[in-house]
Amino acid sequence: QSIDIHEVGAARQFEILHGRYLGPQSDIDEAEQAFIQWKSVREETRRLLREGKAAEAAKRTRSTGAESIQLEKIMNEIGHVSVFAKKRGDAFYAAAEATNNDIKSHWAIFVFIILLLSLIVVWFLLKGIKDPLAALTTAAEAFRQGKLESRCVYAAADEFGALSTLFNTMAATIQTEMNVNKNAIHLSDAMLREDEAHAFCRELLKGLIEHTGSQIGAVYLLNETQTLFEHFESIGLGAGGRAAFSATAREGELGAALTTRQIQHITDIPADSRFTFAAVSGVFQPRAILTIPVPSDYTVSAVISLASVRAYDTASVRLVNTIWSTLIARVNGVLAFQKVKAFAATLAEQNRELDAQRRELVMQAAEVAEQNTELEMQKRQLDEANRLKSSFLANMSHELRTPLNSVIALSGVLSRRLATTIPAEERNYLEIIERNGKGLLTLINDILDLSRIEAGREGVNVSRCAVRELVDELVDMIEPQALEQKIALLNQMPADLPLITTDPEKLKHILQNLIGNAVKFTAQGRVTVTAAVQGPEMVIAVMDTGIGIGADQIPHIFDEFRQADETTSRKYGGTGLGLAIAKKYAQLLEGSITVESTPGKGSTFTLRLPLALGVPEGVQAHQTKRFSSKRVPRLTSVPFGQGQVIQVVEDNESAIIQLTDILSSQGYRVQVAHNGQEALRQIAQTQPDAMILDLMMPEVDGFTVLKTIRAMESTSQLPVLILTAKLVTQEELKFLKGNHIHQLIQKGDINKDGLLAEVARMVAPPQAPALPQSRRRRPVGPGKPVVLIVEDNPDNLSTARALLAGDYELIEAMDGETAVKLAKMHRPDIILSDIALPVMDGIAVLAAIREDEG
Ligand code: ADP
Repeated sequence: QSIDIHEVGAARQFEILHGRYLGPQSDIDEAEQAFIQWKSVREETRRLLREGKAAEAAKRTRSTGAESIQLEKIMNEIGHVSVFAKKRGDAFYAAAEATNNDIKSHWAIFVFIILLLSLIVVWFLLKGIKDPLAALTTAAEAFRQGKLESRCVYAAADEFGALSTLFNTMAATIQTEMNVNKNAIHLSDAMLREDEAHAFCRELLKGLIEHTGSQIGAVYLLNETQTLFEHFESIGLGAGGRAAFSATAREGELGAALTTRQIQHITDIPADSRFTFAAVSGVFQPRAILTIPVPSDYTVSAVISLASVRAYDTASVRLVNTIWSTLIARVNGVLAFQKVKAFAATLAEQNRELDAQRRELVMQAAEVAEQNTELEMQKRQLDEANRLKSSFLANMSHELRTPLNSVIALSGVLSRRLATTIPAEERNYLEIIERNGKGLLTLINDILDLSRIEAGREGVNVSRCAVRELVDELVDMIEPQALEQKIALLNQMPADLPLITTDPEKLKHILQNLIGNAVKFTAQGRVTVTAAVQGPEMVIAVMDTGIGIGADQIPHIFDEFRQADETTSRKYGGTGLGLAIAKKYAQLLEGSITVESTPGKGSTFTLRLPLALGVPEGVQAHQTKRFSSKRVPRLTSVPFGQGQVIQVVEDNESAIIQLTDILSSQGYRVQVAHNGQEALRQIAQTQPDAMILDLMMPEVDGFTVLKTIRAMESTSQLPVLILTAKLVTQEELKFLKGNHIHQLIQKGDINKDGLLAEVARMVAPPQAPALPQSRRRRPVGPGKPVVLIVEDNPDNLSTARALLAGDYELIEAMDGETAVKLAKMHRPDIILSDIALPVMDGIAVLAAIREDEG
């Protein structure tokens, strides 16, 4: 296998040799031939070997064998080739060596020639560059040293010539630029030197003229109304140039600058130009005008114009352009400064004025402070006066009422006791005293009410209240007066009126005043009381057909002490306080009183009250109360006492006399104690049937007495009637109610019949009437029962008449004697007699009648 592989390699080598051998191909062919022969020899050897003739085969391979001989032949042939090839190779090398040496010598000559040529070129070039460069360097060095006018002198048509020209142009530009900048700096300096507008403009124009070579310079400013540019400052300008020009028309040589807001350089000057230049030789027209607008916000605030008899060079135009922005800022700044200065002057003036005003104000403030101090003092004095007034009123309440109560009580007693013993005229005097005393007491009470309301001490005591019943009671009370005046008092309150939540005492007071006034001021016709619910309000109207009130008087009738006219009080009496109090009470109850009236026809007073007053029940702590709101039925006759013991506890002598007089004349036994201790002592000895107790007593007061007797078993149920001259507070009222007091009666307001009715109720309960058996006879006989009324008081007489007429046949007597005569004559079914009668008193009348058998 190895031999096969080498055989293939040998064949390839022969092939290469065929292609590349430079000697005769026969050499190769012979070697190849020998090789081919060797192959057949070798094949023979192998055949022998395969045939097992190893020794023969081995013999062939020995150095003397066929194979070795053939191999040697091959090697010989190859050796020929090799020798030829070596020889040929050596010949080639020698030839190449020779060629190499040739080339080297040629190259050396060539390099030398090139070098020589180069040196010649460099020498020529250096000679051409050095001169212009020297000229340029000199010029540049001189320029660098600040000689701005230095230029390169080299001139030729080559690149250095062009470079020299360029250098000179650049130097000229820089020189111009530097000059422009220098001038701009000068101008800027000049602009900064002045702040005052005229001085500034003068400096500016001077600088501009100097640096631009102008002959005329002018500044025009926009006026306040922004309609005209007015001449402000100029140099070298003729009179024609000083005229103002329109800011809106934008014509002439200045118009373009206003429109474009850019610097305008005009060389085409119109014939009618405003810029003329007066020289010794005549008036010249400029050849060029530079107009510099000074824009500010949306407008142009100033125009600066320069004019020259020569055309402006670029440096001048550039200078103007360079300084333009600085100029705008400075001109606007100076103008603004000018305005600020003007403002500052105005402000300074105003400041001076304000300062003067401030000084005046300080003086006024001092005066006001002084007045304040004075007012403070006056206020203190007023507070003191107010306090004194309050304490005066509080004292007056007691000090005036006590003697008045005595006057009223005693005049009443006197007129009753002396009824039969003094002449009618003197009796009349007593009645006048009593009537005036009562009037005075009402006035005092009114004034006190008013002052209490004004001091804000009048509270409200809210409860549910039936207005209809309240009006019934008032109508009952006032009806006698209406009857006497022969007018009708009509109660037309609807039956289905709802209850209202209000202060019943105050409501009663208001209505009493309104109805009372209506009756008082009505001579004929009627007084009608109606009510209705309107929304959240109850509307109560009191209508009368009386004298009416004039429209001019209506606004004043609610004022204190004001009456419709002076004659009213003379004719109808009254104090002029009633409506004032009624109105204030209505306001306290969150309501109002209004009036409509026609003089001669009548008036309608309308009271409006909320159905529910917004004050919670019983809240008012300092509420005061003068009367119980419990309705006291009007009595037509007062029952007699039957010797029951009435304990009167009272320290005031007049009241004692009055009470004793009233009670003993009615058949009661009166046991008087002047103070609490005495009362308790007397009760321990004699148990009374009832007690009339004064609250204000020295040492042991009425409250203590009440507390003590309620604590004792024997008197725990003793009926007690409280008599007081003072206003009872809410707490006191609560205490009294808790101690079952029977009734609360105001001193000075004691109504004889009312008091007797109360006492009668205390000593004998209603279910056991105290009337004698003989008096219970029912009316008999045909027709109406006959009643004999014995009454000297016309008020009482008319009341009885009003009540009984219709159902009964009435016979009337004004004194005792007539009564006895009429009783015998007519034999009435019942006699209704007053006790205190003129000439013959009631008791005597009764005795005289009882004597008569019939
Ligand atoms: P007086 O005590 O005078 O009645 P009032 O305050 O109650 O005081 O009334 C003030 C005035 O208003 C009365 O004096 C009267 O002139 C007028 N006046 C009040 N009510 C009526 C009425 N019903 N008709 C006419 N005038 C009236």
